[in-house]
Amino acid sequence: MQLIDGRWQIGGCDVLELCDKYSTPVYVYDTAKMRERYDALKQAFAGTRMSIKYACKALTNPAVLRFFRSLGAGVDTVSAQEVRMALEAGFEPQAILFTPNCVAFDEIRQAVELGVHVNIDNIPTLERFGDVYGGTVPVCIRINPHIMAGANPNISVGHIDSKFGISIHQMRHVKRVVESHGIHVNGIHMHTGSDILSIDSFVRAAEVLFDYAEMFPKLDFVDFGSGFKVAYREGDVTTNVEELGRRLTPLFNDFCKRYGRELELWFEPGKFLVSEAGTFLVEVNVIKQTPAAVFAGVNSGMNHLIRPMFYDAYHHIVNVSNPDGPPRIYTVVGYICETDTFGLDRNLNEVREGDILAFNNAGAYGISMASNYNSRLRPAEVLVHEGQDYLIRRRETFEDLTRCLESTDLQF
Ligand SMILES: *Cc1c(COP(=O)(O)O)cnc(C)c1O
Repeated sequence: MQLIDGRWQIGGCDVLELCDKYSTPVYVYDTAKMRERYDALKQAFAGTRMSIKYACKALTNPAVLRFFRSLGAGVDTVSAQEVRMALEAGFEPQAILFTPNCVAFDEIRQAVELGVHVNIDNIPTLERFGDVYGGTVPVCIRINPHIMAGANPNISVGHIDSKFGISIHQMRHVKRVVESHGIHVNGIHMHTGSDILSIDSFVRAAEVLFDYAEMFPKLDFVDFGSGFKVAYREGDVTTNVEELGRRLTPLFNDFCKRYGRELELWFEPGKFLVSEAGTFLVEVNVIKQTPAAVFAGVNSGMNHLIRPMFYDAYHHIVNVSNPDGPPRIYTVVGYICETDTFGLDRNLNEVREGDILAFNNAGAYGISMASNYNSRLRPAEVLVHEGQDYLIRRRETFEDLTRCLESTDLQF
């Protein structure tokens, strides 16, 4: 969001006008920001054969998928449904990577039948894969390098207690399974966590991955997953992708020389590409003064944006309706019958009932984690592209909520 002549805008569209047009709550995404992030990552790795697979669980709307396809991206998917969404958005099967965990083998089979890359993260599934396909279908192996990548243990998936990936300490077992079944391993993968705390830890994990990659002679790509940190508030540490590119490019190119072939380098960012592109807009229903605090209660809650409650995530909040109002302290809360606090003791321009509040960084894991809890309806989504706004998901209705119900005439 930019404040231009006293009015907040997203990609050239006036935010309050968008709220009038589409009503609230509403998610708004700006393609210019997505493109900027995509280009920055691409640029940082210009010295390699690098490919970006957008992790579409962050924001799964087909319009967003098609936008990333237009930029040349592939997709990282975690369910058969996401694979189908990506195919319907026009991606070639070979541009899609399926990285599930703990799924039934049937889902792996579906992905193989759809022709997408499959990434396996446990030894029993790898053995089963070998039994069924032998060396006829190439497969990628997900490794856990045991680098403690993030500060928050809930979103760090590379460490020793993590359920993700095959431990580097089990690689001899993996090698036996691969050799005995003649499995064609064409990729090696790690995803160290949703927050890369430092370039050092990332580079360390990459070096671990290179060591083990040499075990597999038929690789086409090395996939470094994601974990790019974005700024949620001023002063936050972010992943410096330029520096990451500068440090990792020579290491990767050296590895390719040792390996004897120029491999592709893959990344699969979600948050990095879409977090900052998204703004979630809500309306203030009530200003409630208690002996302890002033609450601003809004027409949304953990059902629409659960990150603050689930991950203790900080989302910067702006009072769009009153940019010149005197600053006051508010605790912004939702309308769900839970303690759904969006922001504690926030300094906002004076908030009045009916004002529009904006949550920044709402592009990633916003609507994709939304639910119908409290029988609430999920919000609309709007895409702003080249100065124009497009409705890309309508607001749910009561009929949507009851669509799957059966035996409604059952007598008791
Ligand atoms: C969720 C996920 C990503 C994306 O993570 P971000 O933190 O959103 O960049 C990438 N790869 C895999 C396998 C994932 O599960």
